[in-house]
Amino acid sequence: MNKTTAIIIAIDGPAAAGKGTLARRLAAHLGYAYLDTGAIYRAVALKLLKQNIAADDIPAILAAARTLDPAELAADELRTDPVGNMASQIAAIPALRDALVNFQRTFAACPPEDRPGAVLDGRDIGTVICPKADKKLFVTASTEERARRRYRELTDKGEQVTEKEVLDDLEKRDARDQNRAVAALRPAEDAYLLDTTNLGIDEAFAAALDYIAAR
Ligand code: C5P
Repeated sequence: MNKTTAIIIAIDGPAAAGKGTLARRLAAHLGYAYLDTGAIYRAVALKLLKQNIAADDIPAILAAARTLDPAELAADELRTDPVGNMASQIAAIPALRDALVNFQRTFAACPPEDRPGAVLDGRDIGTVICPKADKKLFVTASTEERARRRYRELTDKGEQVTEKEVLDDLEKRDARDQNRAVAALRPAEDAYLLDTTNLGIDEAFAAALDYIAAR
């Protein structure tokens, strides 16, 4: 794919707002490649947890990021709460974010399998990674609704958690993501805001497609 022609769709938002489901579905519908950038931070976090590396051991964290293999992004183990929490802690480290920029930008500019475009979801895609993305969505939902969704997702997989623990974790993660000094979670100025609190998956998808088609 020629670098200048790939269409880039950036989807940002807080945890459990529905952006992953939406991004995957948009990518499948449009025939674009899909990158879950949260999985990159989670994959580094999983390595650290497995190797007992602390969240402030920056040289070891950067070494783990350097050995990241894209095949690791699909592991089921990435979706647990401890991994998500570690991911959100290390995501505040500027040197780690810098180390992961090229991988994301290359994926967006030259999507795998010669796809005509790429959908990337994360926290800073529209603001930092791809500020010139063709379309930008910022997907949100109320904290309570996001906690309910995350609770269902985790308990469906057999994880032992309470709704209160999930809500507390989400609030901590939101605070870390929104208040960090680099690439803080916020909508790009030109992003389309999509609040999914009262929307089903089909309605959210239809609204996103309308926005994409209208521009
Ligand atoms: O989206 P997900 O919950 O899988 O992301 C895990 C963590 O990785 C987030 O809480 C966030 O702190 C971090 N992240 C990030 N920038 C991204 C994607 C994820 O800081 N583009």
